[in-house]
Amino acid sequence: MIEKERFVPIRIQKNHALLKRIPKNHPKRTDIESDQTKRLAGYKGEQAIDFHLSKLPEKEYVILHDLRLSNGKYYFQIDTLLLNSAFALILEVKNYGGTLYFDSDFNQLIQTNSKGEVKGYPNPMEQASQQCAELKKWLQKRHFNIPVEFLIIISKPSTILKSAPGYAKMLQKVMHVQFLLKNIEKIEAAYKNEVITLKDLKKVSRALIKEHTPSPFNILKHYEIQLCDIQTGVICKACSYKPMKRHFGTWYCPQCKSKDKNAHIQALIDLFLLNSHSPLTNQGICRFLQIPSGEIARKLISSMQLPYSGTKKGRVYFPPPNYQQIKNLD
Ligand SMILES: [Zn+2]
Repeated sequence: MIEKERFVPIRIQKNHALLKRIPKNHPKRTDIESDQTKRLAGYKGEQAIDFHLSKLPEKEYVILHDLRLSNGKYYFQIDTLLLNSAFALILEVKNYGGTLYFDSDFNQLIQTNSKGEVKGYPNPMEQASQQCAELKKWLQKRHFNIPVEFLIIISKPSTILKSAPGYAKMLQKVMHVQFLLKNIEKIEAAYKNEVITLKDLKKVSRALIKEHTPSPFNILKHYEIQLCDIQTGVICKACSYKPMKRHFGTWYCPQCKSKDKNAHIQALIDLFLLNSHSPLTNQGICRFLQIPSGEIARKLISSMQLPYSGTKKGRVYFPPPNYQQIKNLD
């Protein structure tokens, strides 16, 4: 049973909103675009395992995607977590292509791509075993004693895996996606004893969801872009023109002539994604949507039922709940 679904990663959503709203020739555009290409490929890799996971018996497994938890000072992140009554299993998905060489001497992963270019990465085995240790600690603190295992999934079937001599045994935890289910069966065979009841399993799953803390990442600060450099205005879904004009209670595109009553919703979501560290005022919303009257803004805001605090002129607005839970980019 999927208890926490996989959504478009928040960083991808933020990059996307930013790319829509900086000039074509902005000096940071190339950096953001290349980061986005990498992240989209990674997300595609994560989605590639979902098909295989859908074949697991639904009643026995709880599946949670994208968890960010803390044991105190630091956070640790898990892409995909499987739980059943005998064990917990962390799945770390890598979408690296070409040839991968696992170097035990220097504890690194060396990738050679089809052009012969060589690139080094931290050893994912190390990363995953740290996640294991953190999750174990997290569970024990809450009096759940569940063994935690991990597997590293290479999402591209064409990737060639190689390892230093003597390291191959360790690499039993690294596999192509098509062998995922076979390896889960192996873990099932190794952990036959029930350590937790189905009822407690649900408790663990609820606690994980409750304590998941999305990253407060400030993308403008990261790229050193000022909020005033962000292009305002409502964007036309049909032809990407901005700004659409407010016209007889709807949004009108001067370029392709289409109309869209709800086009302001995505514009405000863009603004919340880019400006996640501070709430919005009526005036800020007017400016961003390029509407002259606070009265129209108030009507639009009230139709969106945005959470708010404060009264009258001091009122500020917060993003709608779950606005980051989307399955596709607009
Ligand atoms: Zn248009």
